[in-house]
Parts: sequence; structure tokens; C-alpha cells
Amino acid sequence: MLEVSAQDPWFQVSEVVQLIRRGVATTRPELADATHLGRNIISHRIRAGQEVGLVEPDGSGRSRGGRAAEVWRFRHDAGQVLVCVVEKEFLRTLLTDLGGNILSESQVVWSLGSGVDSTLEQVAQEAEKLLKEAGIQKPWGACIAVPTTVDVAEGRMASPVVPIDSPYRWPLDVDIRGWFAQRLGVPVWLASVSKLMPLGALMTPGAPKELVYIRMGSNIMGGLAANGRVCHGAQWMAGSLGHVTVSDEQTRICSCGRYGCLDTVAGGGAMVADAKDAVAQGRSPYLAKATVKHELAVDDISEGAKVGDTVCVEIVVRAATMLGRALSAMIAWGNPARIIIGGSAIAHNELFLTVLRQTIQVSTLASFYENLEIVQGDPEQRELVTGAVGLVVEYLISPPYLAAWGPGGSPADCPEMQS
Ligand SMILES: [Zn+2]
Repeated sequence: MLEVSAQDPWFQVSEVVQLIRRGVATTRPELADATHLGRNIISHRIRAGQEVGLVEPDGSGRSRGGRAAEVWRFRHDAGQVLVCVVEKEFLRTLLTDLGGNILSESQVVWSLGSGVDSTLEQVAQEAEKLLKEAGIQKPWGACIAVPTTVDVAEGRMASPVVPIDSPYRWPLDVDIRGWFAQRLGVPVWLASVSKLMPLGALMTPGAPKELVYIRMGSNIMGGLAANGRVCHGAQWMAGSLGHVTVSDEQTRICSCGRYGCLDTVAGGGAMVADAKDAVAQGRSPYLAKATVKHELAVDDISEGAKVGDTVCVEIVVRAATMLGRALSAMIAWGNPARIIIGGSAIAHNELFLTVLRQTIQVSTLASFYENLEIVQGDPEQRELVTGAVGLVVEYLISPPYLAAWGPGGSPADCPEMQS
């Protein structure tokens, strides 16, 4: 997109809308103070923002003596955002308003190993079905979230860590963003799940600007934010904590093809494999009983640890200890104010969190630990949706994008934004 100069009216509309959206300045006098624009210009820019549906009056507010100034608010209901989350074993599709409030959603079982072509087609079909059911012809934009590294600038996959013969490895030359933009006819952004989590966490009211989000799943994904911005890294791989070597043991090979990675100890896949070994060796009565009912999962290990099954306790303590040590090095480098542990059931297990906190406490300087919050993520992983919607909306109301779609009145009908 073309850069827009600060004198361009749409640049100023963007500035005004962003201030209103963040609640930083919501009246004409406040907006004039914040932007250094004259009140007449502010009135014009607010009107333009109102005409494209982004802001509306919200009654009268604070008075500076004399008549109370009219308050403006951002319109979350002005449009919809489509969020398509591709996970290793399922697809989740959501339709939200511009504030990230979920209007409808669906989830289907799907394997990431099905390959890129059939996965893109399935995601598009799920999205079209959800839109049709909701009676929405075109949302304002879409975010496709994938559980791998993404070259955000190009809208493609980047530097996959999985070996070349893995079914989970997709070719890098597929223009995923362009494919969806053409298919759905709306602006599309491709993002890594691990980067959307910290982005969503940053948007939580009162969130510190320096934070880390750890998503416990079959693999461990990390994402970090510094000075309020998510770090991507030189190869878009920042936060790949699961592939830090934490053990000299060569018993289990990692998805990256190496031994000793954090994923081979604390990843959900490794924890379940340890649990199955224990069942085969007759070491865990709790897990043996669970195996009769269903395929073992991390939830069983978490529940087993709660009722004191020795094997489950061992698995949980080992995973928390290894994660804590790996995180301690990161804490020394990045000095975060908050670490959010989200994802699978293990992230909400008290024993896991206690051991994690203790390990970090003994592995870092006291001043790091004393000023560090270690908290649980939202059980529904709302951070992912908040981050995805926030990403789309912030792009849509940024000066270059607003200057492109503002004159036509809707981002969905702006071909310039679909390339
Ligand atoms: Zn690895």
C-alpha cells in the first residue's frame, strides 16, 4: 500500500478514528489537543469517519466550562471480521464484529497433514458456509491463522521447522494471502498463531508492554512482545521456544528432526507418549483406567496429577521444570513483566504452574521474579481471536488502507486491498 502524507485528509481521519477507538480522545476539544489540528478540521475528519461508518455520537460528556462537548465512540458493529484458524487437527472459523465480539463460529475436524491445496479449499468452504448462515455477503476483512512461521510481509509460510519429508510441511511458494483474497473478495492477512496470542494479550486492558505468551499444545509455541509490539525475528521465527535444547537424552526425536528439544519433554505429544509408555509398563493405575475409555490425552495427565497419580505428577513436574528453565534464559534476555501460559489443560493445572513459578524463581535474579506476573491464559484462548481481529482492524483504519477504501465507503469493495 502507498504511504499517505500527514497532510492527507484520510491520514487525519485515520488519526481521529484511532484516538476515538482507543478511548484516548473522544471529544472535539480532546481530539484537537491530541492531533494539533484546528477544531474545524477535526469536525470535517469526524464527519468523514462517521460517513464511512467508523464512529458515531455517544451523547454529551465532560464540559470544560460552557456547553458539554459531544462524545464520539468507535462503531464495533460497522462491519465484520472473519477469522479462520488452521490447527494441526481441526479448523475453527469465527465471524466477529470489529471489537472481536464473536457473532458465530464453527469447528470441524481436519488434519494439517492433508496438504496445502485441500486445506485452503476446506478453510474457504467453512468460511463461506459461516458467512451464508449469518447472512453476511462480505466481511470487512479476514485473518487466516496458521500454526507455523509466517512471512507477514509476503503473506506466505516461512522457514518451517519441520523436516522436508513431513506431511505438515507446506511449500513456501504458495501465495496464501492472495489466494484467500481472491476467493473471498475481501482484504486478507495471514498470521502465525504464536504471534496472534501475544498480540491479543497486549490488547487486554491494563496489559504491560513487555510480555510473553506460551501456548501449550502438541508443540510449545511462544510469542513475545517488547515495547508494545510483537517481535517477529529476522526469519519470522522469534519465540520458537519448543526447539530449545533442554536435555542430553536421545530417546525421542523432535518434529524438527533433532533430539533434546523442549517439545520432546514438555510438548503435549511427548507428555502423552510418556503416559502411554507408563501404561505399557503397568506403572500408572489412573492412566490405565483412562486408556480403556478413550485415547490418552494431556487432559488425562492433568487430571491424574490432580488426584495424585505418581506417573502423572512426574510428567507434569518434569514438563514444568524444563519449561521454567528454558523460559529463565528468555526472561534474562527480554525482562518481561507478564508471562501468560495458555493452551491445553496443562496450562490450567495448579501443580504445573506452581512448579513453573518455583523453577523460574530459582533460575533467575530476584529482581526479575519479583516484578514478573505468571498468569493463566483465557481457557477459550480468546487472545487468539482478539489478536486476529485487532490485526485486521488496525490495518483497515491505518492511513494507507483507510485512504484506499474510505472514498468508496467499504473495504470489501476495494480491489486495491485484495492484492
Ligand atoms: Zn525441535
